[in-house]
Amino acid sequence: MKPSGICILGSTGSIGQNTLAVIALHPERFKVIALTAHNSVDTLYEQCCIFKPAFAVLMEPQAAKNLQSKLTQQGISTKVLCGLQDLCEVVSLPEVDKVVAAIVGAAGLLPTLNAIKAGKQILLANKEALIMAGDLFLATASRTGATLLPVDSEHNALFQCMPPGYQTGSRPQGVSRLILTASGGPFLKTAKSAFKEITPEMACQHPNWKMGKKITVDCATLMNKGLEVIEASKLFCFNHDEIDVVVHPQSVIHSLVEYHDGSQLAQLGTPDMRIPIANCLAWPERIASGATRLSLTQVAELTFLPPDVDKFKCLSLAYNALCLGKAAPTVLNASNEVAVQSFLQQQMCFSQIPSIIETVLQTFYDLAANSLEEILLADKLARERTFDLIQAGA
Ligand code: NAD
Ligand code: MG
Repeated sequence: MKPSGICILGSTGSIGQNTLAVIALHPERFKVIALTAHNSVDTLYEQCCIFKPAFAVLMEPQAAKNLQSKLTQQGISTKVLCGLQDLCEVVSLPEVDKVVAAIVGAAGLLPTLNAIKAGKQILLANKEALIMAGDLFLATASRTGATLLPVDSEHNALFQCMPPGYQTGSRPQGVSRLILTASGGPFLKTAKSAFKEITPEMACQHPNWKMGKKITVDCATLMNKGLEVIEASKLFCFNHDEIDVVVHPQSVIHSLVEYHDGSQLAQLGTPDMRIPIANCLAWPERIASGATRLSLTQVAELTFLPPDVDKFKCLSLAYNALCLGKAAPTVLNASNEVAVQSFLQQQMCFSQIPSIIETVLQTFYDLAANSLEEILLADKLARERTFDLIQAGA
């Protein structure tokens, strides 16, 4: 069997590194064609030494120059490219079969859209891009034959529990509800009155998963679960009132699908992203992921509780944005990205995140989002307004 050609957008991040760890277990199945990152020269250099891709892409010219000279000195023939245009080109190379979309945030939108336009199989981790432009992604995919495979653990769990032969972008036969599980994050038991005192360091400690900083803060506000409700709605064609969230602190059940007859099917496993990544890489086959096996007797107890939407307002903001439609999900996402970045830079406090997003959503929820231009405009306006509000100390 000819190995599948792989391009990883964001190979130096948490998902990117986990993807390479699975690929390393199956050298006969996968050939790495392109690896990309923002500016992490050292990590990308190490990855190029091991996987010897034909191309590496960085966003900053000086970083690209440094990487190229290090690789040339080492006798490695990887060609280093630079910038957004090159990023958009490597995803559509004929030798690339699968594109792992693992850039964080809106920065992943254009390269992922290009991969969809080129009809590739997309292993989608970059939920922000789907939330911004879900309808455009799915319409383009149905035109080009691109397939979207969900890497996000909850959506991968839902995907695994769907009827045989199911493909994303369509409504599954016989399914009545989607139930997303949430760990509850590090502040599940923290009183709302103490939210003002939460520092970036505290918010970056996730109880079950080791991930990039942005998504870790999103888990702490429960915005991550809100974004995932929108992600599930887009991928599986469900309305806001057909998707539930249940807090499950052990993160063993990764999500559930409810069928019309009352059956609920769940996917279980240790909280290790190599499992959904391996599932997507080999789909529809199964391969080893390297993850530790789940022992139910060791876990012993699985518990569930409803989310506290009064304490974690971001979750209800996301439901509202999904319900409002148009550019509201794009605006929610953009405002959240700016707010989280500012919180990490200690320019605003944790408890301000939802209130700022709510104000921005109220201003721009009604913008249209029918084309890429309209989506990018909504994203830009929401970012500027959020930034202004933070500067003004709102
Ligand atoms: P990360 O911060 O660890 O890595 C991000 C990657 O994107 C890095 O390789 C970085 O170099 C690259 N990048 C960042 N900004 C860029 C830019 N402007 N242009 C080009 N490249 C850029 O993030 P992560 O935790 O791996 O998450 C990646 C995506 O996957 C996010 O959308 C996240 O929500 C989603 N996701 C992550 C996890 C997880 O376990 N980490 C789980 C589910 C979903
Ligand atoms: Mg998730």
